Order: sequence, then structure tokens, then C-alpha cells
Amino acid sequence: MTESRTAIVTGAARGIGAATAQRLAADGHAVAVLDLDAEACAGTVEAITAAGGRAIAVGADVSDEASVAAAFETVVAELGAPTILVNNAGIIRDNLLFKMSTADWDAVMGVHLRGAFLMTKAAQKHMTEAGFGRIVNLSSTSALGNRGQANYSAAKAGIQGFTKTLAIELGRFGITANAIAPGFIQTDMTAATAERVGVPFDDFIAFSAKEIPVQRVGQPEDIAHTVSFLASEGAGFVSGQVIYVAGGPKD
Ligand code: NAP
Repeated sequence: MTESRTAIVTGAARGIGAATAQRLAADGHAVAVLDLDAEACAGTVEAITAAGGRAIAVGADVSDEASVAAAFETVVAELGAPTILVNNAGIIRDNLLFKMSTADWDAVMGVHLRGAFLMTKAAQKHMTEAGFGRIVNLSSTSALGNRGQANYSAAKAGIQGFTKTLAIELGRFGITANAIAPGFIQTDMTAATAERVGVPFDDFIAFSAKEIPVQRVGQPEDIAHTVSFLASEGAGFVSGQVIYVAGGPKD
């Protein structure tokens, strides 16, 4: 049986984060549904509580140290010490390198890398005290390089190095750290990409599906399922890995 723990999922108001929060709640964990705007988390929290689970909404900016500290205070007070952390919050600011602004470079690094660093640093204190922890970081197939995503691909490659280092440093405390690198997942993020390139989202999905070995695009639940495995008790010997969840060897 799964032991009930406290989990934090960042960027959980929608998309992959929302599906992951719901899945971890269904697995028996109390879940802090964290996103920039606490009100935007209401839908995810309601879906969890309607299904008999336990969740709270937490408004925080993962790239802001004070905001992260306040979020952890709330989670510890309301749900108990978190021992599962899913660093999922993300943004895209795509452009070709010669047109990419420094602000768009910094924004992407701030949410993905600084955000994962601040959240994980705050979480490891509780995990080391508990002698148990599961850290899952969202990378991307874009880590292998993707036109128009110099900032995002660098951040997602950085997440992989960060994850492997966490695995090495924290393993002795019963903590595992792994990364999931999704391919095309049908969310608002990929809808925004379709809009940027001027293709209707349905056509973008159909075109992308043809290029994917399993002949479909991914759904947020595909990633939630993989997070559920990595967060489980039984996955304690899986650490420092990057799992490509992309319907094939890569996107
Ligand atoms: P999404 O639908 O855009 O959701 C991302 C969520 O993160 C949004 O609710 C967003 O809030 C939140 N967020 C952004 N900045 C934040 C911050 N500073 N602090 C807290 N929350 C913040 O994205 P998704 O498609 O579900 O992607 C989730 C993760 O998977 C991301 O890390 C993404 O890079 C990765 N990923 C996605 C795909 C894909 O195909 N969709 C593929 C590979 C990797 P706002 O709405 O307020 O901005």
C-alpha cells in the first residue's frame, strides 16, 4: 500500500501540473497545488477534493526566494512536511537567437532553473529530516536542441544536470531525483506554439502525431503516470535518470 505523503506540484493550475496533482492525490498523497495565482488553482483543488482527495491551493512565484519560503511555510502548516516535489512550472519565450531579448532569456532561466533550485533547496530540508524524498523535474525533448528555443533548450538541458547532481548529493538521505523529458503534450503551452507559427492547433496536433512513432501526441496524464511511478515507494532504486516520455525514443 502507498504511504500517504505531502506533495508539492508547481505550475499545477493547468496542463501537466494539474494532471500530476490529481494523479498524486489519487495515489493517496496530500497535494499542494502551487501556481503563480492561487485562484487559478481552484479548479485543480476542486477536482481533487471532489474525488475524495486532499489538496490546498498555494500562490507563489517559484523564481522568487521570499515567495518560495512563504509557500513552504503554508504547506508545512496545512499539510505537513513535503517529501514529494514535482518541479513542473514553466514558461516559453520562443524566438530565433538573433531576435531573442535578454529579458526573454532571463525569464526562462528564472522559472525553470532558478525556480527548480529554490524549490528543491527548500524541500530537501524536509526530505533529509524525514529520510525520504522524491524529486521529479520536468525537462523536455527540447533539451536536445530545438529551433527557436535557445533559452528553453538550455534551461531544460540544465535541468538534467541539476537532477543528476541532486541524485548524487541526496541519495544517502533516502531521496531520489529524476527528470522527465516529455515530447509533444497537448496543453496550453503547445497551443501557444501553434499560434506562434500560425497553424490551427488541431492541424498542428495531426501533423505532429504523424512524426511520433506511436502516432499520437501526448496527454498530461501520460506524464502524470510517469511522475506517479517515480514518486512511488518502489522506485527508490531509480535515481538520476532522464526518462523521455515522447511516444518514441525522442520527439
Ligand atoms: P502550461 O499549460 O503552460 O502550464 C504551466 C504552468 O506553470 C502555468 O499554470 C503557469 O502559470 C505556471 N507558472 C509559470 N511561471 C510560474 C512561476 N514563476 N511560478 C509558479 N508557476 C508558474 O505548461 P505545460 O504544457 O503543462 O508544461 C508543464 C511543464 O512541462 C513545463 O515545465 C514545460 O516546460 C514542460 N514540458 C511541456 C511540454 C509540452 O508539450 N506541453 C513538453 C516538454 C516539457 P501562468 O498560467 O500564470 O503563467
